[in-house]
Amino acid sequence: MAKYIFVIGGVMSGVGKGTATASIGKILQSKGFRVTAVKIDPYINVDAGTMNPVEHGEVFVTTDGDETDQDIGNYERFLNMDITSVNYMTTGRVYQSVINRERNLEYGGKCVEVVPHVPEEVIRRIKRAAKTVKADFCLIEIGGTVGEYQNVLFLEAARMMRLAAPKDVLFVLVSYLPVPPSIGEMKTKPTQYAVRSLNSAGIQPDFIICRSEEPIDGPRKRKLAVHCSVQEQDIIAAPNVGSIYEVPLIFEKEKIGDHILQKFGLKSKKRDLKDWQKLVRTIKTAHQPVRIAVVGKYFSTGNFILTDAYISVIESLKHAAWFHKRKPELHWLNSEEFENDPKRLIMLDEFDGVLIPGGFGSRGVEGKIKVIQYCREHKIPYFGLCYGMQMAVVEFSRHLCGLKGANTAEINPHTSNPVIHIIPEQAENLAAKKYGGTMRLGSYDCKLVRGTKAQKAYGKNIIKERHRHRYELNNDYRDQLEEKGMIISGVNPQRNLVEIIELKDHPWFVGVQFHPEFQSRPLSPHPLFRDFVGACIRRK
Ligand code: GLN
Repeated sequence: MAKYIFVIGGVMSGVGKGTATASIGKILQSKGFRVTAVKIDPYINVDAGTMNPVEHGEVFVTTDGDETDQDIGNYERFLNMDITSVNYMTTGRVYQSVINRERNLEYGGKCVEVVPHVPEEVIRRIKRAAKTVKADFCLIEIGGTVGEYQNVLFLEAARMMRLAAPKDVLFVLVSYLPVPPSIGEMKTKPTQYAVRSLNSAGIQPDFIICRSEEPIDGPRKRKLAVHCSVQEQDIIAAPNVGSIYEVPLIFEKEKIGDHILQKFGLKSKKRDLKDWQKLVRTIKTAHQPVRIAVVGKYFSTGNFILTDAYISVIESLKHAAWFHKRKPELHWLNSEEFENDPKRLIMLDEFDGVLIPGGFGSRGVEGKIKVIQYCREHKIPYFGLCYGMQMAVVEFSRHLCGLKGANTAEINPHTSNPVIHIIPEQAENLAAKKYGGTMRLGSYDCKLVRGTKAQKAYGKNIIKERHRHRYELNNDYRDQLEEKGMIISGVNPQRNLVEIIELKDHPWFVGVQFHPEFQSRPLSPHPLFRDFVGACIRRK
């Protein structure tokens, strides 16, 4: 029988609920338990695939092809396990199930009501996720902030679960404690209000995680304890830290793991966080930088730069840098800027390597192609992911194969040289306006060619990687590309789709049709990221 821990946000969003959830999971795992984590998103979208990454952040892809919130990526990285689609739900998905069941007469003639039928579906899904991996602990992160209209039904599900099994369910509130500069004191009142709101949903938190610039001190812990009816030892200090990977260690200092076990009447099965401590030591002591430019277009919203759209790419680069005991220094370059002003390309010389991540549509694409040409000609290590690979093929076709106007059919469906063209069943999807969840998604095999950079990196002949695309390299152009020095180093054996390209006569130039960033873990960096960063270090 699994134990359930709900993680709920207070005061405001973006304070690290996902990291807190993943960190609690990591701690329980380090004590010898099987852990899984579920993400609930309160929006109507059935999945995250139909949302703009600038607003919502990265679309994370699971092995079984679900397009989820980026938090699932955090869980995978912290828990070092694959998490599948049963661990992700949205309001849209929950309602869809309830409505389908109603259409199939599965409610036996009853009036199907928002309460209890919707929360019951939520509970069914949570329990199924725990059961799928026989978890001892199932963490459930409820998106949004308490007091929002949107997540009421999920709180209702949490409340119902506690009522049904009081000994098996705990609640953690992750709250924010501001220190207004004009006052110079950490204020607990917003958190007190958040607890009140939670109470009005019938939920009393067992723990409060206090996110703040500095650790919450004794007097304020005591104040929160009294006003919120939470034991003082269960008010957890969670100050800002340099790296999210430090968070489990910070929480452990506050003994959150032991206190959780105590409340459930469980004993630690004794393991430890040694590997993790070693990682954090490396993160803190790696001083020599490796400077990598990430060229994309999903960076800015108004006056702010948000890099959440590329979170897994960023984490993968960090994992690889730490593997080499280097300090990752990442720079965000907007591809559109190179389009308008190609003279700026010389700035790329300052970097040890360049990465172009996935993308869609025409904005900024010609800038990406210019960047790729510069990297190829100036022997700057280059790593292209998905669109970054497709654009490398376009660049190569135009400038080395002399294929005029070569392009991807995504941008110019009438090009005389569609070196990247649509996968046939994807053309059907688009024609039928079936956009949601219909890309080539999830894990597929890739057979590697012996002796290539890719094969050496993986040290295997068959690998599996996750995908999210509609277009692919057009096999009609393979001979021409290979003649001019492009190496096709990985192919999907079932469908003969090109998965990896690389260049001869270049220190490190690799493009992949898949998204390796979804499989990199802090303690086992992805082999391609590892070797890319290795090449970047050598260039220095
Ligand atoms: N837009 C491209 C395609 O659909 C690449 C997708 C991506 O980079 N994820 O094939």
